[in-house]
Amino acid sequence: MRWTFCLLLLIILTSCFVTEKTGTSFYKIDLKLDVNRQLLNANVDLTYYAKKERVDILTFYLHRNLSIETLTCKNLVEYTFNTEDPCAFPFTPEAGTLTIHLSKPLQKGEALQINLQYVGKIGVVTQWEINRITKEWIELGMYTPWFPYQPAIENFTYIVDVKIDPEYQIIGMGKTKKLDDYWQVSQENPTNDIIIMAAKEIHTKKNQRNGLSMDISYTATSDSTAVDMMEQGLWILDNYGEWFSDIKAYKASIVIAPRNIGGGYARRGFVVFNHFEDEDYYQNKIGYFRYIAHEFAHIWWLNAPTNTWEDWLNESFAEYSALMAVREKFGNETFKDLIQAKRQKSKNMPAIKGIDRMDENASTVLYDKGCILLHELEAEIGNDNFLQLLKRLIINKVKSTEQFLKVLTDLSGIEVSNKFEKKLSR
Ligand SMILES: [Zn+2]
Repeated sequence: MRWTFCLLLLIILTSCFVTEKTGTSFYKIDLKLDVNRQLLNANVDLTYYAKKERVDILTFYLHRNLSIETLTCKNLVEYTFNTEDPCAFPFTPEAGTLTIHLSKPLQKGEALQINLQYVGKIGVVTQWEINRITKEWIELGMYTPWFPYQPAIENFTYIVDVKIDPEYQIIGMGKTKKLDDYWQVSQENPTNDIIIMAAKEIHTKKNQRNGLSMDISYTATSDSTAVDMMEQGLWILDNYGEWFSDIKAYKASIVIAPRNIGGGYARRGFVVFNHFEDEDYYQNKIGYFRYIAHEFAHIWWLNAPTNTWEDWLNESFAEYSALMAVREKFGNETFKDLIQAKRQKSKNMPAIKGIDRMDENASTVLYDKGCILLHELEAEIGNDNFLQLLKRLIINKVKSTEQFLKVLTDLSGIEVSNKFEKKLSR
């Protein structure tokens, strides 16, 4: 396949933790984009909630080409913006580190209003070549990062008002609307990125089924291919809704970015591909389908922590959900081939339990071996019970293996549960 998937990026970015209803950090941003000069100008009001006791130093990442004009907040001693040293966060290598020192520490849950204004030319962010301001295509997200980004915030909401040359159209992750002389992108469901994209001519197709809606945006792909991809996505959502649980009024999106490099990435319910030829799509249709199915499955499979081995509760389940979708759509033979390939890859792999998330085998263990275990469990307890199990895990927002085993015990008995627990350890 021509597009490359950067598994590491997906691991850290596609899942998230559950945040309490109160205390979700919020960004209100006025963003001006001057495409001709590749300039970005932002005025950010961030309502930041401390997640720990006694926070007196806050650290954010921001692209090092951006120069901070003002920064204000209560109890500010000073701020520094280090653009010389390498960035400590691996996914934003071109970021500088903004450090804010407070004279009075924040208590856990306490809010702090921070305003900052900055301007700069980012052009193409070279490390991943995903984010960019070019005449043909604008794509901004945390890889730049174009907004003050702190990985520890994990979940936030936002409203971004974007002013851009009137020839351009804006799309983004969230609700997007055109107002008088600006565009507004807003996100009410907590997420971990702010994605803004623009081009002169963006085509969008939409459809909905059973209360779920799906859109696809593209500039250079043929209408028929885009519609086909959107229909696959909607089919996946519809089936998941039936299998796992209904999510009312959910909107998922796919964007096909007109760039040949940089690869794709995904956030919850939001999948980005780089450019592909129609022929490539139809030749690898199952591959594209599986990828979308895996990413959309995270709309449901997201509750376990992503930085420990318990991430198998996100990744193995999302991957097996994708295979279930393949089985339903493309038949049992295709499904069996995929299972067989995963079985081969799983040979001599370490145990799921305790695998270090940074281990070189972590993705094979979580995506392949975990899938095989779920397949064996489905064969053991039967399809109906297995679907029942999936439903109960989702309803109970299960986020640990201990909770998972309890749900399994309740449904299928202690013997099945003990057997599965042993398999997790070998
Ligand atoms: Zn995943």
